[in-house]
Amino acid sequence: MSSQTSYQEKRNLEETPEPDSSSSESASGNKPTFVIQKHDASSLHYDFRLEINGSLKSWAVPKGPSTDPSEKRLAIPTEDHPLEYGSFEGVIPEDQYGGGTVMMWDTGSYENIKTEDGETVSAGECYENGQIEVALHGEKIDGGYVLVRTGGNNSDDNWLLIKMDDGQADARRNPTGTENKSVKSGRTMEQIAKEGQDE
Ligand code: MN
Repeated sequence: MSSQTSYQEKRNLEETPEPDSSSSESASGNKPTFVIQKHDASSLHYDFRLEINGSLKSWAVPKGPSTDPSEKRLAIPTEDHPLEYGSFEGVIPEDQYGGGTVMMWDTGSYENIKTEDGETVSAGECYENGQIEVALHGEKIDGGYVLVRTGGNNSDDNWLLIKMDDGQADARRNPTGTENKSVKSGRTMEQIAKEGQDE
């Protein structure tokens, strides 16, 4: 069973406002996309998702991305999500899998910049190897990031999300602390949550 199937099975699409992946249109055009969804679940976290081979590879990052290269942010691997989920913002009922308020905190395209002996390593291979290097082109998050799996080759091991020390690195910026509005709607988490209740 693919992880996308298990995701679908955990949801009752009749009861949740998320898009149904049966209407599959790549959100990306040519360039693959990334999205960071701020998710107020049982504990607040940021879901970091990269489009790789037709689905969104996903990590839960409790503290969200940093722009400081000296900060290593824990990234807990979670199951693949369908591409369509990357544009979701709203409130998922608490009794549903993944329940809570979801904000599109940042999104954009990305480039795979991982090379080995001068050759680009495919994003799928990078994911399997636990060594991802990407240049993100979001509204809040820009420039190079490394995602590295800790430990050995166990696919359940945690990863670390680290800003590369490039022109976009900025130890003084604190985007998760100061940039608190949706790139999709301009709303705060409180506004998204309230409008979800009103629906
Ligand atoms: Mn989440």
